[in-house]
Amino acid sequence: MAAPVVQKKSSTQYVYPFGENGGTPSTLDRYLLGGKGKGLAEMASLGLPIPPGFIISTEACNAYRQNHRHFPEELELAVQKAIEEMERISGLQFGSESRPLLVSVRSGAPASMPGMMDTILNLGLNERSVVGFAEASENERLAYDCYRRLIMMYSEIVSGVDRLAYVEALEVIKRREGVNLDIEITVVGLKQACVMFKQIHQQRVGKPFPEDVHEQLFEAIKAVFNSWDSERALLYRKLNRIPDEWGTAVTVQKMVFGNKNNSSATGVGFSRDPSTGAPYFYGEFLPNAQGEEVVAGIRTPHPINKYQKEITHSQLESLEELMPEVYGQLCQIVKQLEKHYHNMQDVEFTVEDGKLWMLQTRNGKRTVFAAIRIACDMLQEGLIDEKAALKQIDPEQLIQLLAPVFDEKGKLAASEHLAAHGLNAGPGAASGKIALSKEKVIEMKARGEKAILVREETSPDDFPGMAAAEGILTLRGGSTSHAAVVARGMGKPCIVGCGTLQIDWLKKTVSSLEYPKLVLREGDIISLDGSTGEVFFCELLPTDSEIIQVIIDKTKPPEASALYQHYKKIMQLADKYRQLQVRANADTEVDCAVACEFGAEGIGLCRTEHMFLEVTRLNRVRCMLFSRHPEERKQAIRELLPHQKQDFAALFRVIRGLPITIRLLDPPLHEFMPHTDEELQTLALLMKSSQEQLAYVAASLEEQNPMLGHRGCRLGITYPDLTQMQTRAILEAAVEVFNEGIPVVLEIMVPLVCDEKEFEHQKMVIDKAAQEVFAEKGQAIPYSVGTMIELPRAALMAGEIAKEAQFFSFGTNDLTQTTFGISRDDGNKFVPLYVEGVPHPLNSEERLQILKEDPFQTIDQQGVGALMQIAMERGRQTRPTLKCGICGEHGGDPKSIQFFHRLGLNYVSCSPYRVPVARLSAALASLHE
Ligand code: PEP
Ligand code: MG
Repeated sequence: MAAPVVQKKSSTQYVYPFGENGGTPSTLDRYLLGGKGKGLAEMASLGLPIPPGFIISTEACNAYRQNHRHFPEELELAVQKAIEEMERISGLQFGSESRPLLVSVRSGAPASMPGMMDTILNLGLNERSVVGFAEASENERLAYDCYRRLIMMYSEIVSGVDRLAYVEALEVIKRREGVNLDIEITVVGLKQACVMFKQIHQQRVGKPFPEDVHEQLFEAIKAVFNSWDSERALLYRKLNRIPDEWGTAVTVQKMVFGNKNNSSATGVGFSRDPSTGAPYFYGEFLPNAQGEEVVAGIRTPHPINKYQKEITHSQLESLEELMPEVYGQLCQIVKQLEKHYHNMQDVEFTVEDGKLWMLQTRNGKRTVFAAIRIACDMLQEGLIDEKAALKQIDPEQLIQLLAPVFDEKGKLAASEHLAAHGLNAGPGAASGKIALSKEKVIEMKARGEKAILVREETSPDDFPGMAAAEGILTLRGGSTSHAAVVARGMGKPCIVGCGTLQIDWLKKTVSSLEYPKLVLREGDIISLDGSTGEVFFCELLPTDSEIIQVIIDKTKPPEASALYQHYKKIMQLADKYRQLQVRANADTEVDCAVACEFGAEGIGLCRTEHMFLEVTRLNRVRCMLFSRHPEERKQAIRELLPHQKQDFAALFRVIRGLPITIRLLDPPLHEFMPHTDEELQTLALLMKSSQEQLAYVAASLEEQNPMLGHRGCRLGITYPDLTQMQTRAILEAAVEVFNEGIPVVLEIMVPLVCDEKEFEHQKMVIDKAAQEVFAEKGQAIPYSVGTMIELPRAALMAGEIAKEAQFFSFGTNDLTQTTFGISRDDGNKFVPLYVEGVPHPLNSEERLQILKEDPFQTIDQQGVGALMQIAMERGRQTRPTLKCGICGEHGGDPKSIQFFHRLGLNYVSCSPYRVPVARLSAALASLHE
């Protein structure tokens, strides 16, 4: 996710009240109040039913983190006052023995991080207030149910006790009472649970569960602040590019009780289907339950309405059937929220004794399939305009549209291995080895194996395993469970609620209850079709996605694919609003064809050295490099000419008049040297030489640092025949294709220039060769000659270079490598650590982040970007019409594209499959101006 600029108000107001008569915060700044806080405050201002509460700002969190994990001075007093205000509004009292006020403490970061941080419910209960609560609510069961939940959550989140200890204790009670579900436990059983839970807390933590409700509250706030720095939150932020310095806000809110009785419930929902985008309210709920149970996937939730009941084949009663009035009100509110936010909403609600309360709203995470459909639908419904439609789609997500799927034929052939049907929570196809724990996934991934994480349900702790897995399968949980929400956010295939499978933890097997013969062990291959929810106990080979079938394979007619129609609409809109042109890096016919189908407006980089990688050609290049005298070299170069010409002609025919930038040879020598004795022997035969002699030449050619060695224009300058041959091949091909009636728009590019003299030299060779070809053929083809800017000196000398160079193309791979002095081939030994953070030299608990991002993935605006800016300014001062593009890997990176747009480049060039990403990113860059 692109990180917007943080606009925080500088203020020492740390606490902002909201809700029923509690006023609305004067600011609705998401970076200050967090997404949850902002949503609550905004819902309150819309007059929706919100329990009162207050928000502790992200500034307080950051002050706490900077202050060695101590609260800033004013915070405790401000919280105390806000609690008193809640007491005044509610007529209850925090910690009171007769009418206790209970509160929830929830995290709320500026960007949604589903399930990553902590929540504690029912704070304010202790030995005395639980009695008062039971009396005041006339519901002893509710009071002790809340109390046991509080002890467990508090113990887990504040004191880090493994929840398993509590789950096991509860199991003992359930067995004793002969019941299966938590809600079936008697009041006596719940009271016993509270006693047992407190004992566990005392044993594990070494001190009693706090009776002081203020201590409970402040410790809970600290725990939520701390959860911002938990391992899983850090990983999530890294994957989603959320800055560490944002911090989380905390929401403290009066509890409403979905576990009060059978007229109570708690649920979550989306205003449209987050998997497919279908325009139906989509959600789940649990009667007589508290919030975390729905998301944790412990009990199988009920469908929210008949639509969902049908698609999930659920036998359970829907909210629409059980509480039609509440359902009607909820639908109305959700519609109102969509209108207000102009976006699909993800809501949480609780029904207490028949009254509906809204607890959260935020823009919903959705699959790319849903995203493009919702954007098109909302546009048609008049709910949003074209610009807003584009803004709803994360360009990076578009890649998932192109990801392989399992085809019907393959699945039919494997039907005897079809073991189960679950809920299709995250579309796409995944095959891999079963891993029953996050550790196993990580271990398999480290061995280069594909793993599918299979769990009963996932918890936030599983996040690192989910991130490393190809796909996720859970036996429990609904389509808004933790696994489903997180997998959708990551674009991973995911199936949940596969109740007909079971895991045997002792034997480490997964088996099908429906088909007892189907049993797999951990490490065996399983396949998930996340689009249909089918689980196959075998390996399935994926095929092309629907979009690829339409665009590239042409096996599906466009009109038969609704998905393609949505994709096309979004791409058309992107093209309407973008200013940057989008080209592709391609050097084969196939890649050029694919690039054109994806809408590339030209080829921004044709790496001619890639045309030599096929074995016979590679050997000819080696003959040239190993030649013992000039005539031998000339001969080797001459032999390359017909191959080059043929290749160029083929490319020109495919791209039919789109501009193509052909770069002269730039082979880092080590990539072209023979690597084995066999290869050396073949070369010796070809060159009629001995292996020993060639080994000797190889040793003399060997470079300590090939990336900074005899490559790029340095090769063309020392071996001008090479440049001459390549120019001849390009232009002879161009004349040939032009005479077939196909236009050719040519740009010849000189690589790795650092001085204008180098460029001048090469241009003279090119122009001379061109004149010769045109004279021979009696035909001239227009062409321009430009250069890569990929060395810091080239950027600084751009004003001089532009005197002769007709265009610039930034080679940001090499420019990053040489600006940082970090080898692009070896940087991964330490760059990831720089990004993650190295141990802080002065504080062992902290990590020091040296680089915010991997500069080879996202352009370093301050350093490399500054050089680009200098080069453009100086280049355009000399030559105002100078065309500037970028063809390094950054050309397909959304965040870098935003910067390139601001810089005023003419085009970006990226790999063919990233062209749609670049088209949308370029449009968004224009819209965010
Ligand atoms: C670059 O350096 O950014 C570039 C595109 O060239 P190559 O990756 O071929 O060195
Ligand atoms: Mg380069």
